[in-house]
Amino acid sequence: MTTPLATTGRTPADLPEHIQHYIGGSFVDSVDGDTFDVLDPVTNQTYVTAAAGKKADIDLAVAAARKAFTEGPWPRMLPRERSRVLHRIADIVESRDERLAELESFDSGLPITQALGQARRAAENFRFFADLIVAQTDDAFKVPGRQLNYVNRKPIGVAGLITPWNTPFMLESWKLGPALATGNTVVLKPAEFTPLSASLWAGIFEEAGLPEGVFNLVNGLGEDAGDALVKHPDVPLISFTGESSTGSLIFANAAPFLKGLSMELGGKSPAIVFADADLDAAIDATIFGVFSLNGERCTAGSRILVERSVYDDFVARYAAQADRVKVGFPDDPATEVGALVHPEHYAKVMSYVELGKTEGRLVAGGGRPEEFPEGNFVRPTVFADVAPDARIFQEEIFGPV
Ligand code: NAD
Repeated sequence: MTTPLATTGRTPADLPEHIQHYIGGSFVDSVDGDTFDVLDPVTNQTYVTAAAGKKADIDLAVAAARKAFTEGPWPRMLPRERSRVLHRIADIVESRDERLAELESFDSGLPITQALGQARRAAENFRFFADLIVAQTDDAFKVPGRQLNYVNRKPIGVAGLITPWNTPFMLESWKLGPALATGNTVVLKPAEFTPLSASLWAGIFEEAGLPEGVFNLVNGLGEDAGDALVKHPDVPLISFTGESSTGSLIFANAAPFLKGLSMELGGKSPAIVFADADLDAAIDATIFGVFSLNGERCTAGSRILVERSVYDDFVARYAAQADRVKVGFPDDPATEVGALVHPEHYAKVMSYVELGKTEGRLVAGGGRPEEFPEGNFVRPTVFADVAPDARIFQEEIFGPV
């Protein structure tokens, strides 16, 4: 049984009926017409289908981006001119922050207040690179009486951008901002769990005056569209964020082409609390560190190492505060932990919760909240007394644990 969408009252108005690729300035379906389902993380019902890109679609998108690079104005514009376009992009993103947050929260399950913060940060990322390129200088190094060595900064070509499903819009902006600022053209392959917000970039870029073909978007599965992008000979740059195991495969697939790679992979960050710390501040910071963004963040402080003399006090207070973290519908402004992105990911996080019960001492959470019998909801969960060789200590869980 699933919760009917209507009972939650949380479906955004004007959702698209179908999500397409955006290639050479036009929205298009896949060459073979294939689609995949996108689920609402609260009900796990399909709410939209998206075009499922394959090699043929990537070929078209790369050809459009390559044409814009070799024949179009973008790589040849002065940094100041590109900077103006990037600032306009930031202005538009800022002016639509509430709509962006609404769609992002619905698609990914992130709490609406945090999705709003991520939309603003996306705008800020464009501003940062807009300012950077006008301030950046080329360099010359003189070897007295013998040589003059230059560093010339030039766009390289088509950049392939492959992004994960956590904070998707903001993470895409991290890659789009620098790739476009430096005069490259791009093909973006967003994560298949969360393609909704990525489909907004095309309209934003058109309105800001980005020339046709500079930005291209192909939706689809990693092993189809992502793989074809990584292996395309006309894509000299790949920027990837995602799981370490996927990163290692992409590294290998890009190696024969000697591509330029940027990799942001998994994490298991520790926070360290010493006995002389302000424990209230330390608890607030470490609660936020792991439970914000549903714990679905590579920078989640998912291990806390506490000095022994304050350990018991810290654990008791931390567990009590974790119990007060509000789990709720993603669109509720009071929600601090929403719904995990997808039932597959939910199952993975829950398997770690069960494993944790055998590897540590459960002091908070430990399962699904009673008030949410369906959907991908997890109670903020805390284990104490976990040995450093335990799997929950070593492996990225990527949830509120
Ligand atoms: P994932 O590796 O499963 O997928 C990421 C992207 O890669 C998706 O777009 C996917 O379709 C694509 N992909 C999958 N297989 C591919 C292949 N063979 N070739 C090309 N592309 C392929 O990761 P995810 O589950 O979407 O994201 C969660 C992971 O991302 C976590 O491990 C997290 O730590 C990491 N992450 C890291 C950072 C960082 O900055 N270091 C930020 C956010 C997320």
